[in-house]
Amino acid sequence: MDKQRYKFSTKIVDSYFDADFSFLEELVLKEKAIIISDDNIASIYEEAFKEWKVIAIKAGEENKQQSSVDTVIKELIKLQADRETFIIGVGGGVITDIAGYAASVYMRGVKFAFVPTTILAMVDAAIGGKNGVDVGVYKNLVGVIRHPEFLLYDYSFLKTLPQKEWINGFAEIIKHACIKDEKLFERLENNSLESFRETPEKIANLIKGNVEIKYKVVSGDEFETGERKLLNFGHTLGHAIENIYQLPHGYAISIGMVAACKISEAINNFSSTESARVIELLKKYNLPVTLPERESRTRDIWEVLLMDKKKAGDAMNFILLNNIGNAIVKPIQLQRLKELIFQHF
Ligand code: ADP
Ligand code: ZN
Repeated sequence: MDKQRYKFSTKIVDSYFDADFSFLEELVLKEKAIIISDDNIASIYEEAFKEWKVIAIKAGEENKQQSSVDTVIKELIKLQADRETFIIGVGGGVITDIAGYAASVYMRGVKFAFVPTTILAMVDAAIGGKNGVDVGVYKNLVGVIRHPEFLLYDYSFLKTLPQKEWINGFAEIIKHACIKDEKLFERLENNSLESFRETPEKIANLIKGNVEIKYKVVSGDEFETGERKLLNFGHTLGHAIENIYQLPHGYAISIGMVAACKISEAINNFSSTESARVIELLKKYNLPVTLPERESRTRDIWEVLLMDKKKAGDAMNFILLNNIGNAIVKPIQLQRLKELIFQHF
């Protein structure tokens, strides 16, 4: 096991890499702990969870809604949770979001920690303190920024993770490479999803490196006034696509990253050769690079985009690439952005 401390303004988050789930017993009092997970994970890991109190909600992004938080709160009351209760979110991003959010509002806030079980949650969703829910089609519209007490990484959970979820998580890893780390980009080019899946040390190193990228960006700008915005690369359009086409998050942001590369070519001197490399890398990791072949819904994409949190007056702050590994935030006038989007899709 390898313990690291990540410092944020309001909290130091201990991260236990390469740990075993059973180590949880050393970190929290079992009698005071309540695991929040989804029905899928709770059934696969029934044995590991059997001595713990567990609240299992329905799996899937469509359940990342206030109604699930209400269900959790009712269950917490039934279990007589009090201010000393320690909530542990064990699952993917949906679960870490709901657990962190419910823990932050229950009795105005109880302690919580995460055991992320998907690649996406390990490298992204569980880090940085953002916890919230979707409201209808609007992603993460309601929530809080509050950090967990600790993160426990047990990579053996990945043995049961479906291929689709592996692909999904690699979209965020490729995103990190695009905005921050050219060397990581090259490493991804020289490897494959299969090689990471088959080699425990390789995936462990990759995850830890990506946690460090995310931590570094977030800790430098916790309240997203500058640098942290770069993590939204591919996400402005990606969120709209995710909603409208009901695609998994990683698949949608992959298509969003391609569009952001094309826009970077048009208005930011990003080279077409580098743009092509990004597209090739996404394809190599089985991610989609174009919209599903259905009637064009560019108008709907545009409508949802206008609700984005990154809109500022008559411009939208958009993340563009200068080079692979180097990104910037640029305001684009809405009219110009509309033209660029309608040109691309
Ligand atoms: P994320 O937001 O991290 O992409 P979700 O919380 O939406 O992930 O989970 C995606 C799906 O994968 C859910 O159906 C969940 O039950 C399932 N899942 C999560 N972790 C595991 C795991 N380690 N093994 C098997 N299935 C998992
Ligand atoms: Zn994302």
